[in-house]
Amino acid sequence: MLAEADAWRARDLSVVWHPCTQMREHPHTLPLVPIARGDGAWLIGHDGTRYLDAVSSWWTNLFGHAEPRIGAAIATQAMALEQVMLAGFTHAPAVELAERLLAIAPRQQGRTPLSKVFYADNGSAGVEVALKMAFHWFHNRGEHRRTKFIALENGYHGETLGALAVGDIPLYRRVYAPLLTEALFAPSPDAYLAQPGESAADCAARAAEALATLLDQHAGEVCAVIVEPRVQCAGGMRMHHPDYLVRVRELCDASGAFLIADEIAVGFGRTGTLFASEQSGVMPDLLCLSKGLTGGFLPLAAVLATETIYDGFLDDARERAFLHSHSYTGNPLACAAALASLDIFRADYVLARNRATARAMAALAEPLAAHRHVADVRQAGMMLAFELTRDGDKATPFPSASRIGLKAYRAALSRGVVLRPLGDVLYWMPPYCVDEEQLQMLADVTRAAIDEATA
Ligand code: PMP
Repeated sequence: MLAEADAWRARDLSVVWHPCTQMREHPHTLPLVPIARGDGAWLIGHDGTRYLDAVSSWWTNLFGHAEPRIGAAIATQAMALEQVMLAGFTHAPAVELAERLLAIAPRQQGRTPLSKVFYADNGSAGVEVALKMAFHWFHNRGEHRRTKFIALENGYHGETLGALAVGDIPLYRRVYAPLLTEALFAPSPDAYLAQPGESAADCAARAAEALATLLDQHAGEVCAVIVEPRVQCAGGMRMHHPDYLVRVRELCDASGAFLIADEIAVGFGRTGTLFASEQSGVMPDLLCLSKGLTGGFLPLAAVLATETIYDGFLDDARERAFLHSHSYTGNPLACAAALASLDIFRADYVLARNRATARAMAALAEPLAAHRHVADVRQAGMMLAFELTRDGDKATPFPSASRIGLKAYRAALSRGVVLRPLGDVLYWMPPYCVDEEQLQMLADVTRAAIDEATA
């Protein structure tokens, strides 16, 4: 069986170019792991080795791998209708999913609920849709000066050029900078950046003031502010106080800019509530969803918009319409998977169960907070992160050349756990089906991985 895994590795490396990977590091520095099947929180190799998927396969998987109810829904849909273009045509899964997403989307007193769904086929494409919609809406009104976006420092919204332009992670952005449209960046409300004596709420208030100033400086020029509510995920699972989004909502209203909430990573229960914006009692003008939308089975994105935004495109002129299109927009199989995933939330009382799981995660993480290389342990629901530094304080990050994260990844993988760090941040973001025994293993392996990486 090992021979089978080796054969897949060799065949792979001769033809496949992997994402987010310096291919030079395969096969020696970084072992390529062929996976034969998935089962709940486990990924299983050809030799039978089991890996606990502590990062939910890039935050996509919700209820475990090969979840039979979602698999069955896709199979049934595949036998009826696998794909039809969504321009000029429609199908039941797209309609039903839109109805159900709008029914559960964040609401805010005094605001008319989100009322239209535009589909795309991955997270970055969803972000592109939201950005273009915001810009185009003002363009249709003749507000041609509104061409700018405000995003947050250390934010991430995807890798296509438009999404990358509002992202602020140098590793992904720097090389392509000459190709990117210019965005304005406001300070992150990240509570890890709190100054001595400052609470997370103070830190959020300070960042909001800076955003207010930026909006003032560019009065009448900003079409939207885009944020990842509650957690800047790719930025190292950095978390902020829910008050921040409340202020952003107020500032957007005062300046006339739209608020785009990118809940691609934090949506569908990751932060404890179904959507992170709920913790602030805020409804955005545009809500981007993807990743867990299909339970992690198929690529799909949905951008939920207000009626005001939708109305801004209704006209006799074709170019005033939102012509953005992807071939697989609203694919029936992906929509069927998403509907099955929403059913599971209800049938299995997922959010209630997650509250207990999140408490267990907190208890298991607590002893690690005292580790001499752990500067911070932070949690938002089913997301929990450890910030590793040389002396266990914020002032002494490891030099990037020491590649602590990579070492921890290898150490954890050799012990049967997939922990794929973000820099020197290790995090737990397991499928919701994770059980106590698996969490205990996760905690034990995390400690061993930190010890080995920092030895
Ligand atoms: N926004 C956020 C907040 C994300 O975390 C990601 C993916 N990590 C994206 C957008 C892009 O999604 P995709 O990878 O599906 O393009």
